[in-house]
Amino acid sequence: MTLPSLDAHATLTPGSAGMPALTDVLVIGLGVTGAGVALDAASRGLDVVAVDAFDVAWGTSRWSSKLVHGGLRYLAKGQVAVAHESAVERGILMEVTAPHLVHPLPMLMPLTAEISASQAWLARRGVGAGDLLRRLAGTARETLPRPRRISATETRTLAPVARHDVRGGILSWDGQLEDDARLVLDIARTATSYGAHVHTRVRAISVTGTGAVLRDELTGEERRIEARAVINATGVWADQLVEGISLKPSRGTHLVVRREALPGVRCALMAPVPGASNRFVFALPQPDGTFYVGLTDEPVSGAVPDVPEPPEEDVDFLLSVMAGALEQPLTRADVVGAYAGLRPLLDSNGSTADLSRRHAVLVSEQGVVTVVGGKLTTYRRMAEDAVDKALSVSGLRARPCRTRQLPLLGAGSHAELAAVDAPARLVRRFGTEAPLVVANALAHGLTRNEALAPVSPTIPATLAELVFGVTHEGAADVADLLDRRTRIGLVPADRVVAEPLARRALAIAKASTIS
Ligand SMILES: Cc1cc2nc3c(=O)[nH]c(=O)nc-3n(C[C@H](O)[C@H](O)[C@H](O)COP(=O)(O)OP(=O)(O)OC[C@H]3O[C@@H](n4cnc5c(N)ncnc54)[C@H](O)[C@@H]3O)c2cc1C
Repeated sequence: MTLPSLDAHATLTPGSAGMPALTDVLVIGLGVTGAGVALDAASRGLDVVAVDAFDVAWGTSRWSSKLVHGGLRYLAKGQVAVAHESAVERGILMEVTAPHLVHPLPMLMPLTAEISASQAWLARRGVGAGDLLRRLAGTARETLPRPRRISATETRTLAPVARHDVRGGILSWDGQLEDDARLVLDIARTATSYGAHVHTRVRAISVTGTGAVLRDELTGEERRIEARAVINATGVWADQLVEGISLKPSRGTHLVVRREALPGVRCALMAPVPGASNRFVFALPQPDGTFYVGLTDEPVSGAVPDVPEPPEEDVDFLLSVMAGALEQPLTRADVVGAYAGLRPLLDSNGSTADLSRRHAVLVSEQGVVTVVGGKLTTYRRMAEDAVDKALSVSGLRARPCRTRQLPLLGAGSHAELAAVDAPARLVRRFGTEAPLVVANALAHGLTRNEALAPVSPTIPATLAELVFGVTHEGAADVADLLDRRTRIGLVPADRVVAEPLARRALAIAKASTIS
């Protein structure tokens, strides 16, 4: 069997097989932050080993709102530098590094009777300031259109489910990810294409500034790795590995509803949280035919779970706030899934939660560099700061950071993406690599029809993607395929339907390895 030509490095490896015993930089954690650090260091010419105890995008990075946002809420709190950084990074993602994975999302705030004229005026000023941020960040208007006040008729056209008494709406734009886990996978694969060794199912048991004891979670085998610099990017778990870090996690919950629950809606809907200024519940349309309704912001204490559970009170809160914008409220019967994530916020000694959303790079007494906080949007800048710090602490020499100009695998201009000869869904998810996804499936003996048929009428994912998930993206089991390579698992009923196909993808890939 002839497989399509591919960069042998651009694959992720479950388990520690083939991992070097010595490296320049060891990265622990493969959320967006750790994957970003691995790419930053590898693209500067350093030897990199990056590990995750479970899988790529196992932690908070897959539970986000999937927005690449311009930092408007930080501006509202007077944090101009944080807001500017967010807007700059949004522009880089949308125009250079990942135009295939981030697209402009129209966001509509319907002006209902509950929103006073002065509140509406403030909201307009807010989105106007957001547009100023865009301009100062150098992001083109073609990338993110200018916000505007729209009429009641236009509001009802964009969102027929909005309350019938709306007197108009405020329409603004932000960036939206195809999927957060896909971004992390793409960053991690891009790191491997620069030579990084990226291993899932490898847990760091203990770390120092010069190495770590790692446990292969597939075999139970423990080994020591020597490194000239060690970077801890384990998010809400960062304080478990390194002393002297104080975190105050905060839970955010989203609900999943099908498109039919909000018929005809062609944008994100914003409903203000009563009694709070500058806080909203969003209904965010997803490319797979669902909406995510989120989100909450609740401080949590105690042990950090592997997978946080959304509590009932969060479900009630989200449904009741969203009801304020809708003629026909959503009900519990509309909720087909729910998820929660924990923000890795630094404990900033009683100052506001927003202040602690800045990222921080900390160095332990033993010389371990920890990068924590921040947000998905700013992962590239966090990685740059962490690698700069690791170089200064370790004395390692390397080229300057180059990720600002470095497209991820599959990135291309809008014209290039439009010209890719592959199904639109695959182009949205894999960009210019979409033909490779198809060719890979055919090379594994599938017909085009088998490879590209949707899993079911409500599940647009295809067998081609699942097979690629195993052969190129390090998926080791059904959960890797359904919960991270695709997000079918966000709707438990869909998960049951897709499981046999995920098992088939694993068998297909295994058979070709053996033959
Ligand atoms: C509900 C919610 C919504 C959000 N929405 C947005 C948004 O729309 N836009 C935005 O920009 N930001 C958003 N954020 C923020 C953003 O998601 C996080 O800041 C970011 O994902 C954190 O990534 P991370 O890589 O630091 O942590 P994680 O993604 O949690 O990664 C840490 C990794 O470390 C691994 N690990 C832990 N311990 C070990 C060990 N001992 N050995 C090996 N591996 C280990 C874990 O398995 C995990 O994969 C949101 C956050 C939440 C909670």
